[in-house]
Amino acid sequence: MGIIISGLTKRYGAQKALDNVSFSIQNGEVVGLLGPNGAGKSTLMKCVTGAILPDEGEINVDDFSVLDQPVETKKRIGFLAENNPLYYEMYVREYLKFVSNIRSENKKRIEEVIEKVGLSPESHKKIGQLSKGYKQRVGLAQAILSNPDILILDEPTNGLDPNQILEIRDLIREIGKSKTVILSTHIMQEVEALCSRVILLNKGKIISDSPIENFKGQYNSLEDAFHQLTAD
Ligand code: ADP
Repeated sequence: MGIIISGLTKRYGAQKALDNVSFSIQNGEVVGLLGPNGAGKSTLMKCVTGAILPDEGEINVDDFSVLDQPVETKKRIGFLAENNPLYYEMYVREYLKFVSNIRSENKKRIEEVIEKVGLSPESHKKIGQLSKGYKQRVGLAQAILSNPDILILDEPTNGLDPNQILEIRDLIREIGKSKTVILSTHIMQEVEALCSRVILLNKGKIISDSPIENFKGQYNSLEDAFHQLTAD
């Protein structure tokens, strides 16, 4: 059970965005995916969600194959993509109903999710009228709409102001309880605040994978570790 990734390779033309990546994640782990821009974090997350297909390797989610049983694996995963793509002309509820329809889900959950992500005071607005922090809440709302066991969050606090960062971080901590989470970020405090394990990617390869305590024990700070392990 959990997520098992073996021998994952993804090429864009001659470039290997992922190069023979293997690791597994137990149910309930909160894993921080770190690495410089271009390391392959988004590519890895998109492969796990089934949004893109790898060239080689296998991914299993709760014993289902992402390649052969994509409907089963997609049901289990909530995904907040990089830059949180949303339909700005839609109202919040309209958008969540739309997402729910596509996935043939129960509409009753929409109100519960609006409440859970703290969208209630802004839920009458069009998405385009919301602040960036509230847009991010809409992105998180669609990710947890089906109450998935797994959350994959690609830079969920990118571009937010410091208050919004703390609010969204608290929200992730709350909604990530009892879920398996993979989260990519450039913010070291975020990793320290949320994650139990850190996987560092560089140039499409895993260069470090350890519990956060070990990671912190080896270096003065996560910034120091990041710099030492990824600087050319
Ligand atoms: P990260 O999320 O760590 O910044 P990405 O997974 O977005 O890294 O990108 C890994 C590498 O693959 C980068 O060099 C990027 O330019 C390249 N890449 C990503 N998506 C595409 C694409 N659709 N076409 C061509 N190259 C891509």
